[in-house]
Parts: sequence; C-alpha cells; structure tokens
Amino acid sequence: MDRYAVIGNPVAHSKSPLIHAAFAEATAQTLTYERLLAPLDGFRDTVARFVAEGGKGLNVTVPFKLEAFALAREHSARASIAGACNTLAWRGDHWYGDNTDGAGLLRDLVHNVGATIAGRDVLVLGAGGAARGIVVPLLGESPRRLVVANRTHTKAMRLATEFAADGPIVAIEPAALAGARFDVVINATSIGLGSSVPRDLWPATLFAPGALAYDLVYANGPTPFLRWAQEQGVTRCADGLGMLIEQAAESFLLWRGVRPQTAPVFPLLRT
Ligand code: NAP
Repeated sequence: MDRYAVIGNPVAHSKSPLIHAAFAEATAQTLTYERLLAPLDGFRDTVARFVAEGGKGLNVTVPFKLEAFALAREHSARASIAGACNTLAWRGDHWYGDNTDGAGLLRDLVHNVGATIAGRDVLVLGAGGAARGIVVPLLGESPRRLVVANRTHTKAMRLATEFAADGPIVAIEPAALAGARFDVVINATSIGLGSSVPRDLWPATLFAPGALAYDLVYANGPTPFLRWAQEQGVTRCADGLGMLIEQAAESFLLWRGVRPQTAPVFPLLRT
C-alpha cells in the first residue's frame, strides 16, 4: 500500500492524517497516511528511513520546510518562489518539492470564503515563510495594492523588492499604517493561540467598512487575531482551517493525480 505522512516537530496535533484519510476514502485511493515525528536535527535521516520503507510522499510542517526545499532535487515554480517546500513527492530516485500553501490560501479565500481581491487593498501582516508563499498568488488576483507589514521591517522590504515585478506590492512599517484602511487583512505572523495581538505595533484602524479578516492560524473558536478584528467591528472573519484543507487537496492532487472535493472535510474537522 502506498505510504504517505506529515513530518514535523511537533506533529502530534496535526490534522493532516484525518484530512488525507477522508480524501482517500472519497476518491477510492488505497493508501496510508501517518504522522512522522523527526528529531530537530534528524530531518534527513527520518526522511531517508521513510523512503527506504516504501514512503511515496510527505507533507512538511514546522520547522522543516526549508530543509525540505534543500533536500528536493527538483522543484515546482511555486516552491522555488517560496524557497520552501510543504510537499515532497518521491520520484523513484529523488524528491520533487512543491509548495501548496499559496494555492491553498487563495482557493479558500476566493472560492470558499468568497473574498474579492481584484481592485482591493490587501494587507499581509508578517514576512516569514507563510507570507512568502502567499504574496505571489495574491498578486495574481490583481489587488489595487498589496501591503506587507512586519515587525522586522527589513524582511518586509526584502519581500516587496523581490516580488515587485509581480504586481503592486509595497512594504510599510506597522507604525506607518495608522490611518490606512484595507479591504482584506491577512494575519500571516506566527502570533497564534498562545499569544496575543501586538496592540502597540498594529494600529486598531486597519479595517475598511465591510473588510475581511483572515487568520492563517485556526482554532475551534475565534483566534486572538480574529477576536481583535471583531473588537473593531469586523464581522467577516475566517481562520486558516480552510487553507489547511485546500493545501492538503493540492498535495493529494500532486501525489495521486486526482483533486478531492474539500467541502465534506470541513464539518469533519470542525467537530
Ligand atoms: P515564520 O517563518 O516563523 O514567520 C513568523 C512571522 O511572524 C514573522 O514575520 C515574524 O516577524 C512574525 N511574528 C512572530 N512573532 C511576532 C510578534 N510577537 N509580533 C509581531 N510579529 C510576530 O512562520 P511561518 O511559517 O510564516 O508561519 C506563520 C503562521 O502561519 C504560523 O502560525 C503557521 O502555523 C501558519 N500557517 C498556516 C497554514 C495553514 O494551512 N493554515 C499554512 C502555513 C502556515 P519577525 O520577522 O519580526 O520575526
């Protein structure tokens, strides 16, 4: 039976096995999908063991996305742009590396949540690996402008400079955002469930009337970022569960050649 896994550290919390089991059942694919905990200094050894035991593909999560990129001998264009891989496919004698995070976000944002990006002002908070993976797909939707704001401003500037040819992207320091309003505000920082929004850093005036707040982090209830947005009157809120499911569907397509329906998986995961 073809073997797949999600590799990370930690990985016990990962919902990927549940998602891929549902995809496999719905598309009548015979495969197994497990969690693979790699020691922080043992990513390559763990992957080598996995492939020696017949492993065919991996989802890669924190903190190994850069190591996965270095390990892959062949890359998709979107993995090369991101400089990181969240998906590896075994090609018989080498790993093919892909990055499905950007496609997953866009599919969720536009298709599931119903957001319009074209002609709108979009703000991405954060300039780490996730932000890198999403700015080019977002620019592909023709926003009026895409602003990147990050605690470490130089990283946002680097991102905006690197992708300037792809569309109207600009880096603005968080403090200089005061007074600016955005139609879509995406939290791509690692401010997650255990932390709170840096109120001293982000002005509480970022949301235009009718704006959408989207958090890459997901939870059973509103995340700290979404609670912060709601305090400011934002009613259109979405967390990153949809992105997780959609990026998984893209990985599944790469491995199995069939794109599973994602809608039936949402209620499964919300419970
Ligand atoms: P990363 O590369 O470590 O980047 C972290 C970013 O967060 C950096 O821009 C960092 O700013 C910023 N940050 C961290 N702590 C902060 C704070 N206290 N105040 C302000 N900014 C802060 O992480 P990543 O890989 O981009 O992941 C970001 C998030 O996206 C994670 O929560 C991850 O789980 C999530 N994610 C979700 C999905 C999904 O499918 N839903 C997929 C991918 C990622 P500095 O540059 O100043 O350090």
